Amino acid sequence: MGKVLQSEEQAMAVETLRRYLAAEVDPLFAREYRDRFVPREVMAGLMRRLSEFGLISGAVSEQAGGLGLDWLTSLMLFEEVAACSADLSVPVLINSFGAYLLEQVASPELRERYLPGLTAGETFVSMGISEPGVGSNVMEVRTRARRDGNHWVISGEKTWISNGAYSDFLICLARTSDDPRGGLTQILIDRHEHGYEVRGIDKIAFNSQSTAQIFLDEVRVPISNTVGEEGGALKRTLSHFEKSRAFVAAQSLGLARRALEEAVAYAKERRQHGKVIAGHQLIAAMLAEMATQVDAARLLVHRAAQLFDAGQGAEMEAAMAKYFACEAAVTVARQAVQIHGGNGVTRDYLVEKLAREAIVCPIPEGTTQIQQLIIARALTGVAAF
Ligand SMILES: Cc1cc2nc3c(=O)[nH]c(=O)nc-3n(C[C@H](O)[C@H](O)[C@H](O)COP(=O)(O)OP(=O)(O)OC[C@H]3O[C@@H](n4cnc5c(N)ncnc54)[C@H](O)[C@@H]3O)c2cc1C
Repeated sequence: MGKVLQSEEQAMAVETLRRYLAAEVDPLFAREYRDRFVPREVMAGLMRRLSEFGLISGAVSEQAGGLGLDWLTSLMLFEEVAACSADLSVPVLINSFGAYLLEQVASPELRERYLPGLTAGETFVSMGISEPGVGSNVMEVRTRARRDGNHWVISGEKTWISNGAYSDFLICLARTSDDPRGGLTQILIDRHEHGYEVRGIDKIAFNSQSTAQIFLDEVRVPISNTVGEEGGALKRTLSHFEKSRAFVAAQSLGLARRALEEAVAYAKERRQHGKVIAGHQLIAAMLAEMATQVDAARLLVHRAAQLFDAGQGAEMEAAMAKYFACEAAVTVARQAVQIHGGNGVTRDYLVEKLAREAIVCPIPEGTTQIQQLIIARALTGVAAF
């Protein structure tokens, strides 16, 4: 890994977290929970510990009970979590953005009730945008919320919902009017109080955490559970994507870095044709390419973070980071398998799992194709959708 410019505080925060992850979390995911679902109480224990290091809590200001970290430091810490376990990074990401959203726009009553548990790592939130017919086209959300006195009555189906099985509450994107742009509203649905049905989705990877379908059947929720103003959710969701995409990029970056580290270690050990394979020029070239991809991904992530911290718009830069880092993870993880030869496709080595995880990364939070369209739109001013 190339050098990274870090302040003393950042270097110390990253190092302390790295030591904890290596000692306590890595063995847990490598052995006990390799491709096995982590039960809620175990995942909650991990969230609690991570929030002490600034994950999740870092997304919330000190006034609101968090640690109020800058975006760059948060992304550096998040890369470490993903390098340890991509599975673990998902609930961290979703809870962080749920907390960030609540602090930014929720009413004082909702904030008081739901933010402290999330910040402390005690509770889990889900963000419900996608539906069976709605993925890249967020504007077409069909889940309906109709007014009935002081309540919303919500019906619909959400899918691919991270944290679904763990969730204590869902921030649901629902249609409250037929206006395509101004008809979407976010509503907080409490699982214990209002209820919703959750069904797990089995995937190629990321099965140690929860991805789920959520069914809403005439769920009655007080109007006061509206998050932000009625009809204002599309604009907000798209602007939140700018930040969350940098985190999905950092997730891929962490994963790719881990694949590189595994490949370097293996190439220094494995001997063929009378020497370690690191000494063969074609392996050396692969390692050089992998390291350059990893570092290029990191530079794009850090640039996006610096723009966020400077309060500047970074839609194109976040899209570039997401696009590049996720595709780099696919390439780097595949090369890591190649360097491992036959061992690389067995469950005895981590790289086969990393390769399966990498394939998933270019899909959520806007696919690679959607990022390309955002970048091209910023360049030309011509929208493709
Ligand atoms: C592991 C995982 C976790 C997720 N977590 C969440 C979550 O917590 N909450 C949530 O709401 N959603 C979540 N999602 C859903 C995710 O955001 C969607 O899968 C994603 O937006 C893509 O939508 P889709 O799967 O419907 O694909 P589609 O939109 O149907 O796309 C299919 C293909 O068509 C391409 N395509 C679509 N439109 C265009 C276009 N205009 N031009 C060119 N190509 C196009 C896409 O790039 C893709 O290759 C998650 C998904 C995964 C896999």
